[in-house]
Amino acid sequence: MKEHSGSGEMTKAMKEESICNSCSNIILKASFYSPKDYEKCLSYIKKLLQSGNFEVVEKNCEIDRVKDENDHWVDDIIFHTIKCKSCGQVFTCSVNTYRGSGCFKKGR
Ligand SMILES: [Zn+2]
Repeated sequence: MKEHSGSGEMTKAMKEESICNSCSNIILKASFYSPKDYEKCLSYIKKLLQSGNFEVVEKNCEIDRVKDENDHWVDDIIFHTIKCKSCGQVFTCSVNTYRGSGCFKKGR
């Protein structure tokens, strides 16, 4: 899997602890209480990506394809890792659809 940084270079990736303007108000979830909760988080992430401040660095399926046409999860474990383009902080949204657990957290 390749990481295309595109035109945006790694800017100020040194300060991992400092939260920048783009990600200081990101809403994390310690856990999802229902599939709906997870889907809400996915659309939130989509919005973050649309804002242009974040990019997907790792994923095992498309954000809008977590379910197939029969409304089944595409995998037991689904994850998406996004990165803040300004400070390099990564955030991971992952779920275990088999056990029904998941979260959206800082880091990988
Ligand atoms: Zn940031």
